[in-house]
Amino acid sequence: MIQDCVIVGGGPSGLNGALVLGRARKNVVVIDEGRPRNRVTRETHGFLTRDGISPSEFRRIAKEQIDAYPSVEIVSDSVVSITGDDGQFQITTAQGNVYLSKKVLFAVGKRDLPLDINGLADVYGKSAFVCPYCDGWELRDQPLVLIVNGAKALHFAKTISGWTKHFTICTNGPDEMTQEDREELENRNVPIFNSPIRTIESIDGMVQHVELEDGTTISCAGIFFGPKLVAGSELPSSLGCEMTEAGTVVVDHVGKTSVPGIYCAGDAATEMYQAITAASLGAMAGIGINSELLTEDWDTDSIINS
Ligand SMILES: Cc1cc2nc3c(=O)[nH]c(=O)nc-3n(C[C@H](O)[C@H](O)[C@H](O)COP(=O)(O)OP(=O)(O)OC[C@H]3O[C@@H](n4cnc5c(N)ncnc54)[C@H](O)[C@@H]3O)c2cc1C
Repeated sequence: MIQDCVIVGGGPSGLNGALVLGRARKNVVVIDEGRPRNRVTRETHGFLTRDGISPSEFRRIAKEQIDAYPSVEIVSDSVVSITGDDGQFQITTAQGNVYLSKKVLFAVGKRDLPLDINGLADVYGKSAFVCPYCDGWELRDQPLVLIVNGAKALHFAKTISGWTKHFTICTNGPDEMTQEDREELENRNVPIFNSPIRTIESIDGMVQHVELEDGTTISCAGIFFGPKLVAGSELPSSLGCEMTEAGTVVVDHVGKTSVPGIYCAGDAATEMYQAITAASLGAMAGIGINSELLTEDWDTDSIINS
């Protein structure tokens, strides 16, 4: 059987794409290996009606709701290769299953490169975060350490200042800020340390202090840092999808990539990393894919009122 669409990835974007396509009566298989970037965190914030929900509970509810649409199947597996062209893709998984599909939607997210600071993995998602819109409220007015350097430092500091005025910048050395940015931060009394970070001390995931190589110890209640991200899967680029330097797939307003029949949504297709944005991009891609399928059917079918 040929599917209308195979969706690679079952996070908010892939699942919302599946919901839209299921409601549009399309045959869909969602293949998900279950390693979303936010699996380190306990709560997802800022998603209206779901504020504070755990990522696993979010997925459970999503799957329960998608279950109402019998033309959608969700399988736990990893897609390892895709061949073919628009209208006839062949999708092969790690478990050796092969799916045929007219369209493919990549909803593969982004992936963190290994955290290269001692102790950071212990606090990531518990008291160290990457996005103040996601986790700033919980750390409001608290003393924080920002691990950031170069051109991003001033922007990050300005952003965090909306949640707390008590923060310190650790560049983890050497200082890559411009003289101008550094002066602007110093004029606002933002302490800046350039010594490399020796370790982050924590108890049960809650940061206690940051220790620098020069012996300085900075007590804090939380950390924000700029993660190093790469594409969640090499498949879109290996199929020839146009990519940005940041590893983001270039798409139009409905998630269409530069390769016919291939769509992309969610974190994989944007640098605004929010669950609600990912879900919305998944929904838009679902509409884009359905429109294209309907147009193709309309052009070849004469079934209406026959
Ligand atoms: C620490 C942290 C905290 C966050 N907190 C919040 C928050 O509070 N609020 C908020 O709105 N956002 C938050 N985010 C961001 C949010 O989690 C993401 O924007 C959102 O999950 C992206 O959804 P997605 O569907 O694009 O990708 P993901 O949720 O990452 O899902 C991608 C899925 O694709 C799968 N996949 C990849 N390759 C393959 C393959 N080859 N075969 C099969 N499956 C594959 C992955 O395993 C994964 O399950 C947070 C992120 C992090 C890292």
